[in-house]
Amino acid sequence: MFALDDELARWEVVLPEAQGSERSKLLLTLAWHLRQRDPARAQQLSSELAPLLPQLPPDAGMVQRARLHLISAEPAWLRGELDTAHYHAQQALLLCEQAADTLPASAAACRADACWIMAWVCNDRGASADGDAWLRQAAAAARVAADPVRTDIIDAASGICDAFGDGRAAQQRWRDRFSDDLDSLPPIAAGWVSDFFGTCAFLRSEYGRAIGHLMRSFETALATGQIRRAIIVATNVGNGFTSLNAHEAALDWMQRGLDLARSTGWPLSIGMCLMQTAETLRQLGQREAAQSLLREALTTLGPLSGARAYAVALEYQGDLALDLGNHAAALDSFTRLAARGDALRQNDFQSSARRGQAHALSHLGRAEEALAAAQAALALARAHGDASGQIAALHVLADIHSRHDLPGPAPMTAPNAVLHYLQLALEIAATIEGYTVPGPLLDAAAREYAACGDYQRAYTIALRANVARDQTHSREATNRAIAMQVQYQTERAQTEGEHHRQLAAAEAQRAEVLQQTSATLEHLSAIGQEITAHLDAAAVFRVLDRHVQGLLDATHFAIFLLQPDGASLVCEFGVEAGKPLPPVRIAAADPHAYTARCLRERRELLLELEDDGATANLIPGTLPTLSLLFAPLRVGERVLGVMTVQSLLTHSYGERERLIFRTLCAYGAIALDNASAYRQVAATQEQLLEKNVELEQAYKALEEVSLTDQLTGLRNRRFFLQNVDADVALSLRGYETVLHRELNDCDLQAANDLVFFMVDLDHFKEVNDRYGHAAGDSILVQMQERLREVFRESDYVIRWGGEEFLVLARATHRDEAPGVAERMRRAVAERDFILPDGVCLTKTCSIGFACFPFLPEQPRLLSWSQVVELADQGLYIAKRSGRNGWAALYSTAQTRAEGVFPRLMRQLEQAAADGEVRLVSNLTGPLVLGGERRRIGLSSDLELN
Ligand code: GH3
Ligand code: MG
Ligand code: MG
Repeated sequence: MFALDDELARWEVVLPEAQGSERSKLLLTLAWHLRQRDPARAQQLSSELAPLLPQLPPDAGMVQRARLHLISAEPAWLRGELDTAHYHAQQALLLCEQAADTLPASAAACRADACWIMAWVCNDRGASADGDAWLRQAAAAARVAADPVRTDIIDAASGICDAFGDGRAAQQRWRDRFSDDLDSLPPIAAGWVSDFFGTCAFLRSEYGRAIGHLMRSFETALATGQIRRAIIVATNVGNGFTSLNAHEAALDWMQRGLDLARSTGWPLSIGMCLMQTAETLRQLGQREAAQSLLREALTTLGPLSGARAYAVALEYQGDLALDLGNHAAALDSFTRLAARGDALRQNDFQSSARRGQAHALSHLGRAEEALAAAQAALALARAHGDASGQIAALHVLADIHSRHDLPGPAPMTAPNAVLHYLQLALEIAATIEGYTVPGPLLDAAAREYAACGDYQRAYTIALRANVARDQTHSREATNRAIAMQVQYQTERAQTEGEHHRQLAAAEAQRAEVLQQTSATLEHLSAIGQEITAHLDAAAVFRVLDRHVQGLLDATHFAIFLLQPDGASLVCEFGVEAGKPLPPVRIAAADPHAYTARCLRERRELLLELEDDGATANLIPGTLPTLSLLFAPLRVGERVLGVMTVQSLLTHSYGERERLIFRTLCAYGAIALDNASAYRQVAATQEQLLEKNVELEQAYKALEEVSLTDQLTGLRNRRFFLQNVDADVALSLRGYETVLHRELNDCDLQAANDLVFFMVDLDHFKEVNDRYGHAAGDSILVQMQERLREVFRESDYVIRWGGEEFLVLARATHRDEAPGVAERMRRAVAERDFILPDGVCLTKTCSIGFACFPFLPEQPRLLSWSQVVELADQGLYIAKRSGRNGWAALYSTAQTRAEGVFPRLMRQLEQAAADGEVRLVSNLTGPLVLGGERRRIGLSSDLELN
């Protein structure tokens, strides 16, 4: 069925010497295996063979004639001449039938190949059910021929066709047919089975795996002369990379496909490569270029509108229309796609068609229909295990809910329907290996989180969106896309040049001109690549100038660009006799200016002035040129401006010069358009960065607010809980180092002690009751000032709640703590507070404190929160023992580690009597240890155990 290049080479070597029946056999074999590699030579070998056939025995002759028909059928199929291909395949079938009795094996093999071509002809017509039936017949014939490689190839092809119909069912049906161990198969069969595995993996959205299989299949197809398959597989690999948003690799493979396809001239292959490249360009934001390639793809594919490829092109057209904001056109494309998907019975289109319809309908204000279509798209994608289909459908669902007020889904896993769907989409995206989540999806999520006030998440996702954009829209990929576009256009220009050359072969002089032209075109192609490689307008101007000066007599060269308002042209670049021209502005409606006329009429203008001294249209300060050439800078339907060259001589611009100028204008226009697109992208990126900075600032401000007490400006409990662990860890590390070295270094201990002070105003309620809440507030604010006086910048001063403050003093030796407490007590008691109405008020406070670690020999014995409880215990001892004082609990040499915390909390008197705890206080009277103490509710490790 297919032969390796090496085998072919061996046959070629022996052909010149071969005689008689040996030669006929070789001719047939070579012709057959050249049918895709070199259809013209295959045909030539066939015509040499045809007159020799009558010399063969009748049955052998019949099978050989059948093969000759197939050698005609296959190239016809590839050229898109499906009727011709069908006719030849049918003739082959008839001949095989006649030879079936006498030569069962070779007739069956030939019959299998005829059915094979029939199947592909049917598929290209869009009759996929007939195609499947022909493949089944082909497989049956291959089994009759007892040809395992043919059987494997045909079965794998059936599997691939089935997979497009219903991926899951096909995988079930064909699962046991092929072993995973491809190395045990002959390489040609392995190539097709890889293709099947790759297709299935693709439909499951396992793109990395799919690409691996497809690459193997590509190598085999290429080495066995299956050019059409190689092209399809290369574009599928490209498509896989596009699905991973790896556009550079995608373009690389598209390029391989396109290179192969171009040399064939097969419409389906070319059309397919063009549309895949167009899709990648679209994803890179090169919409204009994508549109022109896609239009060309659809024209090329027009005669094969039944084929799967045409449906794919419809999908791409729909997506492009959506990108361009042309929702009615998009709806039309997707509706046609839905019809094609139904006719072809291919599931992958059914979901994407509904997804596209939903998107378009939503933008056309048809919310209910949009919602129904998007839900249908999601259900279909789910049913077929198509992860990227689900992501796309979920994204549209989110978009619909953000545009229209519609009831959300139940149950909902997020604050609103939009986030619900976006989160689902992101979750699924995370399951696809190697997938770069699309920037727009992340943008939508970031926007939505920001709208909900979750700035932190919004910010993180916005950052991810940026990274994704950087990954997918790399400058390399953009350059690559532009280069491909230019190369394609140049090649077309060259083909056209070649065509003209043939037409004019009779006219020697004309032919010579065109010969020159062809060489010039080649030169221009290189220039074109250089021009379009630049992404800023100034560089484009410079390169254009250099080449214009090199190729044309151009005393005067200027580029006018149409201004955004469309009302005037400004000379953005101009040189005359080596001097820069001023930036003149010319009204687009100016009846006298040639530039304006060129713009309005959108065509080239060549003016030959007489040397009579008349200078009617001369721009003041410019030279009296005699040959003037103007051409519009066009990209597709848009005119960006006008370019002009002028010479002091008459008749400076002949046909060749005009062609050069026209080509330079075409490249210049593409490059300037790219430059402006690039500038816009850069501007948007900048805006985005600014937005991120704003978001970050907003987030920081918000965080600051959430960590600060609004009345006093002190830090709050939340701040404390966020930071305390780090300080405790530091303290523990210091202590443990000391213990480890069995040192007892006092300084080190000072550096590692943490002292927790609990400060509470005495009888504060009275202030509120007597002077009002505002008076109370003003005292709390003044308390803040006094706390700051006593404690250091590096200590945490926290408003713990109400009129209660917690201070964590760091790097304070436990023996210094009483002095600090006393200073704090005095800072409150010895200076009056001043109320808003000027009344002076004496207040006191009570303080309790405890040190961490409580027991220096066992730093981890009590947690920090238990130490806070002990400080609180001290505070209440001070309250009960007369207020305006402080009290603290210290460990002693007698402190028994086991069960110490509950003892201190519940049986403090006993513990003090046993000498397990040392109570330190400024209060002179007896300390009241027992009595009720409220819980301060810190955390679960306050449990008394
Ligand atoms: P003690 O000496 O036992 O601490 O008596 P106290 O009155 O200070 O303690 P108590 O817990 O009975 O009352 C605390 C009062 O603090 C009750 C509440 O009205 C007041 N308070 C709490 N937060 C604020 C605040 O932000 N502003 C004002 N003005 N008063 C507050
Ligand atoms: Mg109080
Ligand atoms: Mg209190």
